[in-house]
Amino acid sequence: MRCVLCDMPLSLPHQGICCQCVKNLPKFNKVCHQCCLPHSLSTDICYRCCAKKPYWDELIAVSEYINPLKKLIHHLKFYRKIELNTALARLMFLAWYQRREVDALIKPDLVTCVPLHHIRYWSRGFNQAELLAKPIARWLNRDFSPYLLSRKPTMQDQKNLSLTERIANVETLFMCHQDLSHKSVMLIDDIVTTGNTINAISQQLKKCGATSVHVVCLCRTVL
Ligand SMILES: [Zn+2]
Ligand SMILES: [Zn+2]
Repeated sequence: MRCVLCDMPLSLPHQGICCQCVKNLPKFNKVCHQCCLPHSLSTDICYRCCAKKPYWDELIAVSEYINPLKKLIHHLKFYRKIELNTALARLMFLAWYQRREVDALIKPDLVTCVPLHHIRYWSRGFNQAELLAKPIARWLNRDFSPYLLSRKPTMQDQKNLSLTERIANVETLFMCHQDLSHKSVMLIDDIVTTGNTINAISQQLKKCGATSVHVVCLCRTVL
């Protein structure tokens, strides 16, 4: 087994990416602990999140949406290299673990993932967020609930909508099917772009009683 980035033989084959390549991954400068976007205040939370608090509580990303992770996500999703899931999930787990040390995060009660539109699921054959979430739940020794949420079929193509219409559309897109009273949830996605999707999902999770929602993703698009 070789490192998927530098092709050097791996001493620990299950890791998928060697220690040197993990060390060389692009790092964020100071980011807000809630939205994971760069900010310059001395506080953990940026002024945007203070002014309008998202429904989720923490957002942890491995890197910005740039190479080499951008390329690896592309391989996973579009070239069906689903065997990359464990190596990528490990990076997410490490990022969560590092944040946990800093912020004394609690270990979640259950792990779930952003559901894929069912048409996309049929055409792709898998949900990449589910592939990433499964090993993380196993390492945390927590329940994995990939079908906690369902995604309603979208009537309109998002591309033709204005920003306000898109936000309103996404807010009614997800349904949660379980009582989550007294439960903390870890929500997994591959890429977080605007944050509208994870916000709509977090709103549903909290409505069902979730005490906290920690989002862990591979890449955060820095707008
Ligand atoms: Zn390497
Ligand atoms: Zn923020």
